[in-house]
Amino acid sequence: MSILSDWAAYLRKRQAPMADRSHTYRTRAVILRRRNHGDADRILTVFTPNLGKRLLIANGARKTTSRKAGHLELFNHASLLVARARAWDIITESVTVDSFLRLRTDLDSISRAAYICELVDAFTAEDDDNQSLWSLLLLCLRELNTDSAVGDLLLRWFELHLLSLMGFQPQLFHCLGCGGDLQPVTNYLHLHAGGVYCPRCGETLPDTEPIMPEALKVLRHLTRTPWRKIRALQLRQSTERAIASILHRYLVYVLERRLKSADFLNRLRLAPAADSRISQSK
Ligand SMILES: [Zn+2]
Repeated sequence: MSILSDWAAYLRKRQAPMADRSHTYRTRAVILRRRNHGDADRILTVFTPNLGKRLLIANGARKTTSRKAGHLELFNHASLLVARARAWDIITESVTVDSFLRLRTDLDSISRAAYICELVDAFTAEDDDNQSLWSLLLLCLRELNTDSAVGDLLLRWFELHLLSLMGFQPQLFHCLGCGGDLQPVTNYLHLHAGGVYCPRCGETLPDTEPIMPEALKVLRHLTRTPWRKIRALQLRQSTERAIASILHRYLVYVLERRLKSADFLNRLRLAPAADSRISQSK
């Protein structure tokens, strides 16, 4: 046998098991969204650490006898075995890693988790892996699951860090016009330009709005501080409202479409009593 045919045999031997393995893959995943398909199936939108966002099909997941179904609830962190297929890859096994129980029972936590998952969905394309975003998503879901006192501040912190990971971090430290350090005075926000102008550059510019020093200070603090140091922060209601409005409008601008979950949150705030009655009667 020639060296070449030895080599060819060696390669065949190496490639055979690899080819088998490539039919399936195992991945961790968070279930971002799911919809019914056919009589008994579900199409799931999941986010994974190494494969980014994926659309997967869970055959028979809506049958009461399905062993997979319980592991594929919304917001679940699951370990999946997936078979490659032409249309959607097929979930063949699923095991729950963390079921986030509070995210099934507490309406405020559910709506916040839905908002976070919708933003991750909206900002990502299929197969764009982003390990930092995976870590951010898990951190937020765990926090919502364990801390009942966690409020909308987590959402604001998440929004800023998501924007930064996706390359849309607003400029909050230097004037967009002259580049000078922004001072603790009333500066001028320009949402479409993605940041803040100093008074000298911003005052006469069209489409700017004043931003109070307190709101800018909080936005800057959220941007550069890990969550564990933010958790205990107490904000004045007016500041909280101001930064919520700024971030919401900036996100809407960036995504160029209304966010369904944000509307959902607003509806909840307007009618808390009615919504909790609905959830109790379910
Ligand atoms: Zn300036």
